[in-house]
Amino acid sequence: MPQVFVITGPSGVGKGTLIRTLRERMPELELAVSATTRRPRAGETQGEDYWFLTDEEFGERAERGEFVEHAEYSGRRYGTLRSELERRIGAGHPVVLEIEVQGARQIRRTLPEAVQIFVAPPSAEVLRTRLVGRGTDDPEQVEDRLRTARAELAAQDEFAEVVVNDRLEDAVAKLEAIVRSALHSSA
Ligand code: 5GP
Repeated sequence: MPQVFVITGPSGVGKGTLIRTLRERMPELELAVSATTRRPRAGETQGEDYWFLTDEEFGERAERGEFVEHAEYSGRRYGTLRSELERRIGAGHPVVLEIEVQGARQIRRTLPEAVQIFVAPPSAEVLRTRLVGRGTDDPEQVEDRLRTARAELAAQDEFAEVVVNDRLEDAVAKLEAIVRSALHSSA
């Protein structure tokens, strides 16, 4: 049974960069493409970064039970499509989910065998600097994401595996060790 890895933690903590770097080292890992109702940012592509859905489409698909988990984040909906997960697992690939904390909690109940890893910032200040610095959100949204981040940081203790994203190189090495060890013990 291929493994499912849930990478969670507050927005701006660097989950995306960590996962990208990890996948360069472990190309066998596949990333499930999430669905969202937020609008694409510059450079984001339909089906690659996200499946961008309307509120109506998302709602219908949620009602049909097409999501393994879904949550509202910063006024938008995000979810993991069952089809994304099953297609990859069916092909024998370990799968990575990059999701926020409420979704990770749902996966803990529905897929208890999934390995959950919380990515933490070295400090709250660093998180603010990163969220402001990446320039993808307007100031109001940054504040909203930081408020959510405080609650998400408080959830850190729920996770057996915590990776502090201070130096990227160190954080990726730790993440890789966790993933390789889980794959090794399930083989
Ligand atoms: P962003 O808008 O910055 O792309 O994502 C906002 C937050 O939603 C991030 O913490 C991201 O990890 C999370 N997210 C992305 N996809 C999913 C998903 O499928 N499910 C859940 N629960 N969260 C997601």
